Amino acid sequence: MSETNARPLNFIEQIIEKDLANGLHEKVVTRFPPEPNGFLHIGHAKSICLNFGLLEQYTGYCNLRFDDTNPAAEEQRYIDSIKEDVSWLGYEWEEPIHYASDYFGLLYELAGELIKKGLAYVDSQTPDIIRESRGSFEVPGQNSPYRERSVEENLALFEQMRAGEFDEGECVLRAKIDMAAPNMNMRDPVIYRIRKVHHHQTGDQWCIYPMYDFTHPLSDAIEGITHSLCTLEFEDHRPFYDWVVDALQDHPAIARPRQYEFARLEMNYTVTSKRKLKQLVDEAVVEGWDDPRMPTISGMRRRGYTAHSIRHFCKMIGVTKSNSVTDVGMLEHAIRDDLNQNAPRRMCVVHPLKLTIINYPEGQTEQLEASNHPQDDTMGTRQIAFSGSVYIDRDDFRLEANKKYKRLVLGKEVRLRNSYVVKAVDVVKDANDEVIEVLCEYDDQTLGKNPEDRKVKGVIHWVDAASAVDCELRQYDRLFTHESPGSLDDFLAHINPQSLTIVEGAKAEASLLQAKVGMGYQFEREGYYCIDSKAAEEGQLVFNQTIGLRDTWSS
Ligand code: ATP
Ligand code: MG
Repeated sequence: MSETNARPLNFIEQIIEKDLANGLHEKVVTRFPPEPNGFLHIGHAKSICLNFGLLEQYTGYCNLRFDDTNPAAEEQRYIDSIKEDVSWLGYEWEEPIHYASDYFGLLYELAGELIKKGLAYVDSQTPDIIRESRGSFEVPGQNSPYRERSVEENLALFEQMRAGEFDEGECVLRAKIDMAAPNMNMRDPVIYRIRKVHHHQTGDQWCIYPMYDFTHPLSDAIEGITHSLCTLEFEDHRPFYDWVVDALQDHPAIARPRQYEFARLEMNYTVTSKRKLKQLVDEAVVEGWDDPRMPTISGMRRRGYTAHSIRHFCKMIGVTKSNSVTDVGMLEHAIRDDLNQNAPRRMCVVHPLKLTIINYPEGQTEQLEASNHPQDDTMGTRQIAFSGSVYIDRDDFRLEANKKYKRLVLGKEVRLRNSYVVKAVDVVKDANDEVIEVLCEYDDQTLGKNPEDRKVKGVIHWVDAASAVDCELRQYDRLFTHESPGSLDDFLAHINPQSLTIVEGAKAEASLLQAKVGMGYQFEREGYYCIDSKAAEEGQLVFNQTIGLRDTWSS
């Protein structure tokens, strides 16, 4: 990828440069460790661009690892979507894909090692008592009465846990650290619990599952991760991360990774919590995880965001250690900028009004040449049909108007984009006095140029009536009206009722029948649109509005 530009190193790059200079590492090994319990969102994109992006500068590789220690919430379809999204963003993970569950056997052995070192014990207290006896910030925790079990007894009990001889909640394996530690995460955290559930990778092989805080550092250590990058909430977990890795340093499978925390992406008008996004899906507020209003990678892809624009956005926001809220306008700017440069221009009339040229030769059709991009000749031209009967947008015609209105007015002239100058001479109205047709005269000397005797300022878009194709447009607005929906418990009460507007019967130029899924188009004077991939599968011509031509929120 060629998006590197000169900028100061972020704090993670500084650490890496130091580690490489000191000879601590020869290569950089990172990982992206999603839990397969939902689809990836824009926050994950930040983590992906960071972890994989480092390998554009440094020798090494990035693993994709599914952190699958909570089988009850995980599903294969989430795994599939995560792989698709990472690839689509343009990144390649080091093969093979890893699963924390690949290490269940080794983790079980390592837990046994902790027991043998006197660093872990089976606690037979109820989950409620364990929780209560952890204490609080002000009150130290209390030791479990089972804390001093012998190594032999612990090994035997742990083996019995694995063999399924206990019920869920009857006992757990805990690290033996310090119940009075100021950091609550060090108060003998649970490292294994009994969960008698089927696992999407390991089937019914296990009925005990390691906890995330135990699994994560060891997975990093087993894979030889050099820089384990996570979000700031995990800062308080780092002492336990280090404790686990240090305690098992003598095991041949265990290297020494380091955890570094960076600020998570928070964005206004957006929720970036999988739990909340899942709620939107489960309660059918949106059509699914890939609804174009969702801040998921699949939703943004369907909406018409390009991988390039998302990567560029992640570059713009950078990587720091202080939490902040990013303006969603930055993301919108990134896609608008990309499409402005790269989207071919097309014409589509959103609210069609018939315009008939009464002096156009009966039965004649011309093929006019239209530029695909006004600033970029390399994008070439296309042919558009013109036959004297066209559709223009209802908003582009008025019976009377002042000089500020630069479109078509009865008795005045306007240019049809890429075509002739026309003058409105009469209208046809329906029984409700609504204009249903504009009658015009055209000047056949005006194709591509204004005659010297008159200046026609207004240019409007149109489509040829005979060859136009009907299509549906889906126009989107922000999903939430509240600036920080993620901070609200009742975030569902702040859904924007106008987040989706469906326009049926729009008229598109015939060349849009060839529009490709994954390609963005600028509908001139209207906005950026792309084919809706799902509707296309069903043979329908539906365009999603990716973004408007200009920012309508910031003013
Ligand atoms: P959520 O908070 O949405 O449930 P998560 O952190 O539980 O997300 P994971 O699947 O565990 O989701 O995340 C995989 C990786 O993506 C983690 O390393 C996590 O730190 C990172 N990540 C998740 N959300 C964000 C975010 N908003 N900004 C930056 N990185 C994130
Ligand atoms: Mg997580």
